[in-house]
Amino acid sequence: MQDRARIVVIGAGIAGTSTVYHLAQLGWKDIVVVDQGPLFKTGGSTSHAPGLLFVVNSSRTMANFAKYTTALDDSMKLNGERIFWKTGGMEVAWTKERWYDLKRKYAYGKSWGVGAELLGPSEARAKVPLLSEKIYGAMYSPNDGAGYAHMVAEALALEAQKRGAATFYGDTKVTGIEVVNGQVKAVNTDKGRIQTDIVLCCAGIWGPLVGKMAGVTVPLYPMRHQYAVTEPLPELKGEKEKVRHPILRHQDEAMYFRQEFDSYLVGAYRHEPMLVEPEDILEWKDSKVMPSVMDWAPSIFEQGLRESGELLPATKGKGLKFKLNGMFSFTADGMPLMGESPNVRGFWMAEAVWITHAGGVGKAMAEWLVQGYPELDMRECDVARFHPHALTKSYVRTRSAQQFREVYDIIHPGQQMENPRNLRLTPFYPRLKELDAEFFEGVGWERPQWFKANAKMLEQYPYNGPKRTEWQSRFWSPIIAAEHHAVRNGVGMFDITPFTKIEVTGPGALKFLQSITSNNLDQPVGRIVYTAMPNHRGGIRADLTITRLSEDRFLVLTGGGMGMLDLFWLRKNALRDGSVSITDVTSSMFNIGLWGPKSRDVLKTVVDEDISNDAFPYMTAKRMQIQEIPVLAIRISYVGELGWEIYGPAELGLRAWDILWKAGRWSGITAVGGGAFETLRLEKGYRMWGSDIHTEYNPYEAGIGFAVRPNKGDFIGRDALAKIKKDGVKRKLVCITMDEPNTLAMGKEPILDGSKVLGYVTSANYGYTVGKSIVYGYVPTECAAEGTKVQIEHFKEIYPATVTREPLLDPENLRLKG
Ligand code: FAD
Repeated sequence: MQDRARIVVIGAGIAGTSTVYHLAQLGWKDIVVVDQGPLFKTGGSTSHAPGLLFVVNSSRTMANFAKYTTALDDSMKLNGERIFWKTGGMEVAWTKERWYDLKRKYAYGKSWGVGAELLGPSEARAKVPLLSEKIYGAMYSPNDGAGYAHMVAEALALEAQKRGAATFYGDTKVTGIEVVNGQVKAVNTDKGRIQTDIVLCCAGIWGPLVGKMAGVTVPLYPMRHQYAVTEPLPELKGEKEKVRHPILRHQDEAMYFRQEFDSYLVGAYRHEPMLVEPEDILEWKDSKVMPSVMDWAPSIFEQGLRESGELLPATKGKGLKFKLNGMFSFTADGMPLMGESPNVRGFWMAEAVWITHAGGVGKAMAEWLVQGYPELDMRECDVARFHPHALTKSYVRTRSAQQFREVYDIIHPGQQMENPRNLRLTPFYPRLKELDAEFFEGVGWERPQWFKANAKMLEQYPYNGPKRTEWQSRFWSPIIAAEHHAVRNGVGMFDITPFTKIEVTGPGALKFLQSITSNNLDQPVGRIVYTAMPNHRGGIRADLTITRLSEDRFLVLTGGGMGMLDLFWLRKNALRDGSVSITDVTSSMFNIGLWGPKSRDVLKTVVDEDISNDAFPYMTAKRMQIQEIPVLAIRISYVGELGWEIYGPAELGLRAWDILWKAGRWSGITAVGGGAFETLRLEKGYRMWGSDIHTEYNPYEAGIGFAVRPNKGDFIGRDALAKIKKDGVKRKLVCITMDEPNTLAMGKEPILDGSKVLGYVTSANYGYTVGKSIVYGYVPTECAAEGTKVQIEHFKEIYPATVTREPLLDPENLRLKG
């Protein structure tokens, strides 16, 4: 056995083989793949998955992974035989609610460019004649299909072998991973030791055990799942094609179906999740006992069988000729685990990957390893996304089980998790409760979305927004509009403690930060700089505000949700000469946003310092004292108003809140939630990382080219950005307003020019000050001019809209700089 390799891949299931195939395509050689089972029916999940691939997904990245996967699988053959059938697929609506929701889902297919259409009952039955007449309709997705996953895995592996890129060792179990000074050095197997700097863990349900060998948490939970194949159906007598009918999902009963010659395969999720401890998974013994297969549990399949007979009457009362109780992985947020571990350098993973996405995942993993960044936006999949509480066993167990329960549910984008709650409470929590906050959860934090105590403000500020549909009214309140007006006309207090706060210190701090950001941070102490953190191809890995606290001390502020990704990137690229230290100080500091035209008049009553515009200008920071609380006040505002972000020690937060609250009573100071925050920032045109901007977009397309200073010296992405600027951009982020009253988008809807899809909605909300329904999205540059007429498609309704000059509010920044 080889004793050295460029990379050792653990697991020859679909995730491992797909990544190896793509690594070979990109020119890597000297790849070793080890699997404890025999090749390529290894005994992992891939060995027995029925291999249905449904493409349309609310996540653009996942839909793109799937579309790519079906095309790849469709192009593969094994020993000249077909191993994949691109049949198309249908999600049927058994209820009115599902039919309504399919209109939303169909729009994802259109927005992401993966294809989808809505069919009436007879059109659906024309594609699958066995379907009941009772359905309301179906969403048809032409790129769906089904295949033999382990054969696809074998075909991919053979291609990599043919290129001389990889060697596969079956019946070889990894027993240990050597890590020295936080860096992978070797993999130990029961057949010998392999020296390597890179391990890629594709061990599926065994991922947590393999991770443990390197001291890495692989946050997934193995779960059991059953499917069965019926006895032959007379209606399909003589059917010679393995899969001819489009594959089916019956989400109202959490089921899926695929025709198999003259039978039907039926899978059901409608039961309590059956979790398996990774330690309890059987050892591989012989080819008759797959370690990822357990005994059939008839009771949990009974309801599924009954419902199968309803949707496909031909299956009613049929016996089962094949039954399987297999195991696969679920994660806390239902997304895969990809990328390098933030804790151990050289330990990479592609875990919790479905057959559906494996082609795209393998491509992205290979790009990431070879060129340092994947082409697609990875924020939802990157294993570095988790905050510490989300890596605990209890959290992963609870949330993964809930993901299983909800796998086919209709999930409103505003829907809140029920359990676990009250994990991360800011110091102001008691006051927020007293004001009857409606809490939304965000990476464990309880964050007020609006305050029911503010309902009385609707008398002062009667609701002036659009009439909302029932769907648009969920997880929403007109109080949001009143809070919005309270900020624009007076002063609002926002609990923004969950923002991620990172201190970068040391003699090398400036040099280091200059090397990974696009704007010039070499500014006087006390100056704040807004900057992008580009990746190597000029995509926006993050946007940050950075305050120079002293010569060699900087405070980096970034969003709450994705802060761990930024922390990882900072640490990964930090100088290794001991000249820089990076500390996440989020939990140790409170943060209040005090914003609105009256904010100065409130603040000046509780501080001794001169906070006039001359003494304390916009984009500067000062240390001050609010009575006995030492604070750092930063004059910036994400809502487009005069104001400060006020930082101080967490344990003094409650006192700070009370002092400011009391000081502002004369002004009608208002506690304001996240709902208003979002409408305020959109009126001002501020970009939201994760929706308006991310790695697939560059600063010039996104309208933040002002934050790129190529002359400051070298930084990651500088050359790429110079080229982008020289070549010019082909698309632009634009502000669009709806032409008709009472029309509203919610995000991710297609932006159209007639039948042509120009782009999709990255952010949408109503601007209560400007009196407009606002949408942001990228469109081709030729459609980006002010006045261009477009349409927004929302639940199959077409709304006329117009590209508008931005920002809609205060383009001269008079409010901010006043
Ligand atoms: P695996 O295929 O499990 O591969 C992991 C490999 O790692 C195994 O071969 C294992 O032997 C090896 N390994 C583990 N530990 C070690 C070690 N210490 N040393 C060496 N090797 C090791 N997905 C879909 O998209 N569509 C479907 O229709 C579908 N249906 C499913 C139905 C069932 C019943 C089940 C159980 C799963 C289904 N899935 C489906 C999910 C899908 O099968 C899995 O998500 C996918 O196969 C996971 O692939 P993988 O490569 O990550 O893991």
